Amino acid sequence: MDTPTKPIIGGILFCNSTSPGEGGKINGLGFFTSFLAWSFPTSVRIWHAVLTLYDFKERSVEILCSVSVNNRRKIKLPTAKIDFKIQKDNYGLIIDIPLRHIFEQEGLHTFYFNIDKSNIFIRIPIMVSKLPWPQFNSKQLEFLKTDPSIPHSFRINFTCPKCSRPFIFEDSIFPDEKLADGVLAFPQSGLFDCESCETKLHLKDIQGQLRSSIKSNVVNFMRGGK
Ligand SMILES: [Zn+2]
Repeated sequence: MDTPTKPIIGGILFCNSTSPGEGGKINGLGFFTSFLAWSFPTSVRIWHAVLTLYDFKERSVEILCSVSVNNRRKIKLPTAKIDFKIQKDNYGLIIDIPLRHIFEQEGLHTFYFNIDKSNIFIRIPIMVSKLPWPQFNSKQLEFLKTDPSIPHSFRINFTCPKCSRPFIFEDSIFPDEKLADGVLAFPQSGLFDCESCETKLHLKDIQGQLRSSIKSNVVNFMRGGK
């Protein structure tokens, strides 16, 4: 009887988004070693663990993922348990694991990726930090008012993760602007109750991320960049 080979985890990188590439490759964007948030809990952001595995025969493998916060409690991640089949002619494989982990606080978050409940695992320490809320000074506001070509508002299309109901949220740097029909304002508290299933959605972090991208745009334009 063949002794089952022991898989080797080659490595793991975290990134913001992925797309399938040719021949089993994975394209990734926005690789990071620390996680920055504008508010806690973070919620609607999906990010990815891209993992390489080597040296095992065709079989199904489970990768379990958990996280400990500040070296204390370990939480199992519900989205990271996956099954897949290795092709016969593949010695190595690259796997994309979408993660929806909600960060509740700042601090050191250690992610453990474990194969088949074995002692083969890899751990990645990620420092989670809070960023200041993006504020606009009077010069930046004036600049935004005088140059309509620079976006001063944003929308996100968002689907409730529980009942899949779609929502559109809009935020503008100028708060007196009227919203189009069917478009919702970001709640002041950052907490939104889905009208269909009453799931609570935390939107403050994503709002901060979008405001921050407007601010970087303005700062760049004011410096004369494009
Ligand atoms: Zn819902």
